[in-house]
Amino acid sequence: RKSSNSTSQEESVRVVVRVRPLSQKEQNDGRTIIVQANEAAGEIVVQDPSDMMSGNASSVSKSFNFDAVFGENSTQRQVYDMCAAPIVESVLNGFNGTIFAYGQTGTGKTYTMEGESIKSSQITSSAEIEKGIIPNSFQHIFDRVAVSVNQQFLVRASYLEIYNEEIRDLLSKDPRNKLELKEHPDSGAFVKDLRTILVRNVAEINRVMQTGKRNRSTGATLMNQASSRSHSVFTVIVECGAIDEDGSHAFPSNGSDKQQQIIQVGKLNLVDLAGSERQGKTGSTGDRFKEATKINLSLSALGNVISALVDGRAHHIPYRYSKLTRLLQSSLGGNTKTVMCANCGPADYNYDETLSTLRYANRAK
Ligand code: ADP
Ligand code: MG
Repeated sequence: RKSSNSTSQEESVRVVVRVRPLSQKEQNDGRTIIVQANEAAGEIVVQDPSDMMSGNASSVSKSFNFDAVFGENSTQRQVYDMCAAPIVESVLNGFNGTIFAYGQTGTGKTYTMEGESIKSSQITSSAEIEKGIIPNSFQHIFDRVAVSVNQQFLVRASYLEIYNEEIRDLLSKDPRNKLELKEHPDSGAFVKDLRTILVRNVAEINRVMQTGKRNRSTGATLMNQASSRSHSVFTVIVECGAIDEDGSHAFPSNGSDKQQQIIQVGKLNLVDLAGSERQGKTGSTGDRFKEATKINLSLSALGNVISALVDGRAHHIPYRYSKLTRLLQSSLGGNTKTVMCANCGPADYNYDETLSTLRYANRAK
């Protein structure tokens, strides 16, 4: 990181940008590509479409540098290896880590985090699902668990969403119930009554994820909300204990003194952020206006935290201004690792939103 001043800081927060390909519809509509990802240089170059029209292209392109950039041909595997694998490794070693997908709705946040969802009409026998960061991290974690010697792992998952600064448990029976964010004097912020589910393999954690996704969409329907306006946070908690020489287990089912053998707990937070597009700029009132203000507030609170962390000189990290940053406080900064993946579209009509995403990401850098 250019602006940081210590080695540990250098690794702790990384900001990357991914540009998706033109969609079929954009191609049909004859949209022009105005965003270039120069992967070798870690640089994104954007042309102002109004200047391109007037044949003035060269004078007005803007460029931004990031820790890594991914163009339209980047694969899910490349993005995983670069952005997520190092974080998952450190979670397996007992540190916390967080991966955010940021960007305007429709730019590939969910594609990057989850991957291509299989719409039944698209399934062909040979079709490989392009798995995103979340399913790949599940595989990574359980592959490691499978080969571990003299260690025992306990993996649990929780899944929540933050909508309008209200927290809901996507794994609860009624995802409409609001949960409270509390502070514990030692361990910090936690969500009261949030379910965490013990998972023993990839199939189980995938099922947890699917249940949460289903609850998210039914909840959104019941409450008349758009899921693009909420943040979703999938958390994997990995506890690792040494197994005794006599082969006894590191995690006794009763709360005996063997509890102390738990030597490491790492948390992986996988966050699909609310769409960053300016909400209802024209005359939105009442609830919609309030909602818009809160989305903007929580995304800018997050930007402020990340930018303070990256700065490295900041003595005060402004965690307390949004539920999301309070909740993730113990997973942002210190000896944790964070990746912010900013997503944008390549087309001319997204120029303003794309610039705003790149500026947000550039400030976070
Ligand atoms: P968001 O979650 O930011 O609203 P999505 O992830 O739903 O955006 O992506 C919007 C559409 O673009 C989806 O149809 C998705 O499959 C497609 N898409 C996004 N990123 C890519 C990519 N890198 N390669 C191919 N298709 C993509
Ligand atoms: Mg999405």
